[in-house]
Amino acid sequence: MLYSQQQKWLHLLELMGTDHVRNSWQERKYKQIQERIYSIQQALQRIERLSFGECIECNQPISLQRLSRLPTAPRCFDCQQKHEQQLPAVSQLK
Ligand SMILES: [Zn+2]
Repeated sequence: MLYSQQQKWLHLLELMGTDHVRNSWQERKYKQIQERIYSIQQALQRIERLSFGECIECNQPISLQRLSRLPTAPRCFDCQQKHEQQLPAVSQLK
């Protein structure tokens, strides 16, 4: 089947589009993995400093329920919520 010049360009743009989407997906995934590794490293440091299980903001113990669900949690539930409210919205990060 012969492509017209226009169809060729459209096909090329389509390919570039999917490639771009795939790359940004990989980038997001890569960032998620990096953040995960960072939070594990931070938790290991807190174990070494014997402060594991203490909130890094208020120094109060993090609930066992929270730690069993999220062992790398650096903050208690209340401080985590406050922390997330202070973060800029994702749309503003770019
Ligand atoms: Zn706290």
